[in-house]
Amino acid sequence: MKKKIVILGSTGSIGKTTFNIIKNNRKDFEIVLLTTNKNTTTILKQAKLLKIKNILIADKSKYINLKRRLKNSKIKIHNNLDRLGDILRKRVDYTMCAISGLSGLKPTIDSIKLSKTIAIANKESIICGWHIIENALRKRKTNFIPIDSEHFSIWSLIKNQNKEDIKKIYLTASGGPFLNKKNSQLSNIDPKHALKHPNWKMGKKISIDSATLMNKVFEVIEAKKIFNLDINKFKIIIHPKSYVHAIVHFNNGLVKFLAHDTNMSIPIMNSLYANKSFNYNDKSLNISMLNNLNFSKPNKKKFPVIKLLNMIPKKITYFETIIITINDYLVDKYLNGKINYNTLNFSLIKLIKNSYFTRYYKFGPKNITDIKIMVKRVTTYLNKIKLNEK
Ligand code: NDP
Ligand code: MG
Repeated sequence: MKKKIVILGSTGSIGKTTFNIIKNNRKDFEIVLLTTNKNTTTILKQAKLLKIKNILIADKSKYINLKRRLKNSKIKIHNNLDRLGDILRKRVDYTMCAISGLSGLKPTIDSIKLSKTIAIANKESIICGWHIIENALRKRKTNFIPIDSEHFSIWSLIKNQNKEDIKKIYLTASGGPFLNKKNSQLSNIDPKHALKHPNWKMGKKISIDSATLMNKVFEVIEAKKIFNLDINKFKIIIHPKSYVHAIVHFNNGLVKFLAHDTNMSIPIMNSLYANKSFNYNDKSLNISMLNNLNFSKPNKKKFPVIKLLNMIPKKITYFETIIITINDYLVDKYLNGKINYNTLNFSLIKLIKNSYFTRYYKFGPKNITDIKIMVKRVTTYLNKIKLNEK
């Protein structure tokens, strides 16, 4: 029997990778729904190629246009990302949650009810809404697989292990395009250099976060939540080749690590096949890479945002929603040439300590609406203040 699959965000980097794996393994999988925000060209191509019955366009005007154009088509075109249950009458086998940003949270939570397994790439949802996701997973008895490569690695390494046996978990970071640049060269560096990630091909926002190492700070928060471990159990370690994704040091002296090529199709394909055997068509083991792993400690002067790890509250609070929103805002300003690289780094650290925000670090969101209200509040505040603009 073919596994029935949904891809939320099928026109993005993770979504396309998932789609291509399925396209090449049609005997094992059947897609029942694809979604996009605005990219009607790509989603239509995908639907025609694999004869997919349902597609969803979240953007209203793009939806109306396409619906008009495809009046007599067999493909059903939907618009409401908040009503996935109207489209999926039967529980599917697997949903890939690959929408970017907090727009992915509600569909992710709804998918837990509508799917036997959910694979979540969408970091922002995990960081801000893990407690809501976790409750839904428990209630619906849905399997969960993290897709971010570090988290997929940790998840694979500690499966069937006692959590008390874990001494430390190291998340590797390539160090991004600025690892070997002097600090003095960075203050006014153009976003086009920050976007040139040495190892991974990713969207713009996550590429900037990789240059500052904010992506790794987010990943530590993500890992702390998914694996329910104290923040002090996690460390960031620089590994420019990005071949090893995570290292787990156990109390019994054993150190395990997981390595694979820098290609997201590896964790995604493993999550799709779950415990079934399959053949990933790669080259033979890269010995020279293994002989040159080169790990080092991150330089806090070059990557000042690492200091934020000391501020992460133990309890569920609004801290995560606020830090995600401030960072989104600043990255957008940097990409649009409004602030320089120094301001991007230091405004984040300064703003997160601003008393307007710190008063929210004592209590947290109960539901998605609370998270959305806080995002609005933070954005309104940020729009009013003056940053150190160029
Ligand atoms: P992309 O920006 O490439 O794709 C995002 C997808 O979500 C697109 O299909 C986009 O549609 C859709 N989308 C965006 N906004 C909305 C919205 N408001 N409503 C509905 N759909 C929307 O992102 P990535 O694939 O790079 O990343 C997806 C998630 O996975 C992110 O949270 C990211 O942090 C995480 N991640 C990504 C990794 C990577 O290697 N890329 C690695 C690990 C995690 P449209 O095409 O119309 O814009
Ligand atoms: Mg990652």
